[in-house]
Amino acid sequence: MILCLVESDNAKASDLSLEALTFASGLGDVEALVFGDANVDGYVGHARRVVHDRLDEYAPEAWAQAIVELAPDVVVAPGTDRGHEVLAHVAARFGAPLAANVVEAEADGETLRLTRQRWGGSLLEEATLTGTPKLLTVAAHAVEARDAGLATTVEEFTPTLGDEHFVVRVTRREEPSSGAVRLDTARVVVGGGRGVGSKEGFELLEELANLLGGAVGGSRVVTNLGWRPHSDQVGQTGARIAPDLYIACGVSGAIQHLVGCKGAKRILVINKDQNAPIVARADWAVIGDLHEIVPAIVAELRKNGT
Ligand code: FAD
Repeated sequence: MILCLVESDNAKASDLSLEALTFASGLGDVEALVFGDANVDGYVGHARRVVHDRLDEYAPEAWAQAIVELAPDVVVAPGTDRGHEVLAHVAARFGAPLAANVVEAEADGETLRLTRQRWGGSLLEEATLTGTPKLLTVAAHAVEARDAGLATTVEEFTPTLGDEHFVVRVTRREEPSSGAVRLDTARVVVGGGRGVGSKEGFELLEELANLLGGAVGGSRVVTNLGWRPHSDQVGQTGARIAPDLYIACGVSGAIQHLVGCKGAKRILVINKDQNAPIVARADWAVIGDLHEIVPAIVAELRKNGT
């Protein structure tokens, strides 16, 4: 059985879970294992919805136990913090290897031939996964989610869970302020780096993002300096974004930052250094002081009634 873990996000399957389902379908018939209320209609023929009175919040060992109980041959999970964490528990339980951040997989007899991202995506590694079960997570945006038009039957599944599975669990949640556009799904992201100069400097970027219906992100420097919360960080140790447009303001383009924004369809760079590494990755670059250029763009957008 090929099992694919599905995370819910506000009663919907998360985008990366849908990508994982599409990826897993390339390996054969897939069953979705759904945590939460997500609807996966069309993506798979069969889904199991995990139902348990103690599983209203995330608990990694409990999620792993649900997978272990089903004794699958292959487990695919989205390449999210949760996907990686749960599969690491499953790997430990089975004593099986786990391939993380896979971008391609092909069955070859009893083995899976894989290509996976290493070093935050700057290196692609070819690997072979043997044994049972085969565990892998799918790198964010490795494939586009595709509704296969299947008739989906949904069955409830209640794993046997004890206190030992809830040693680690979510006990409190803090949602972003209402109305905020999420960084990982935003169509436009306005990113700021050290060049923004201060916490207050980000008000300008907020204004631009609001006008474009986008979200604000930042480099690690700005989250380290406390100018933005860590949840806004783009990069290897932050969010992977895939907007239609990434506007990088005062960001140099260190490899660890580029890992997070390389899924962007277009990059507009605003930087006063024409030799900044990110300029080489830009579709358009405006060389100059962002404190002059961003207000000029904002003024132009307002003039045009955006
Ligand atoms: P800088 O490199 O200092 O660049 C500032 C840029 O602003 C320069 O290009 C400069 O020309 C420009 N500038 C200055 N003033 C202006 C102005 N007025 N107008 C226009 N341009 C201006 N970084 C991340 O971003 N995300 C990560 O997830 C991440 N993970 C990491 C993980 C590890 C293990 C390590 C070692 C590092 C990681 N980093 C990460 C840090 C990374 O290496 C860089 O240090 C960081 O991205 C640099 O941030 P920056 O571009 O804001 O700053």
